[in-house]
Amino acid sequence: MQRSTCAQCGSNLEPQNITHRQQWGDELYEFESVPALVCVRCGEVWLEAEVGQLIEKIIQQHPQPKKYHHVPVFSLAEFTL
Ligand SMILES: [Zn+2]
Repeated sequence: MQRSTCAQCGSNLEPQNITHRQQWGDELYEFESVPALVCVRCGEVWLEAEVGQLIEKIIQQHPQPKKYHHVPVFSLAEFTL
């Protein structure tokens, strides 16, 4: 069953392929070409249950990723304005 309106604001949802980042424990995973429904007004992103299940399956099976990002991480506690 496909959602047709945003549960946040009630506006229409538009199908889009998005880049989705998923936090999993301490790890961050990124998924490209994720079919999603995006609210035309507030931008809230909704993933179908099957898409969420597929993402979970990919994380658990951990196949070879297409590519890696190298992400610099800073702690603001170590810097001042
Ligand atoms: Zn909305």
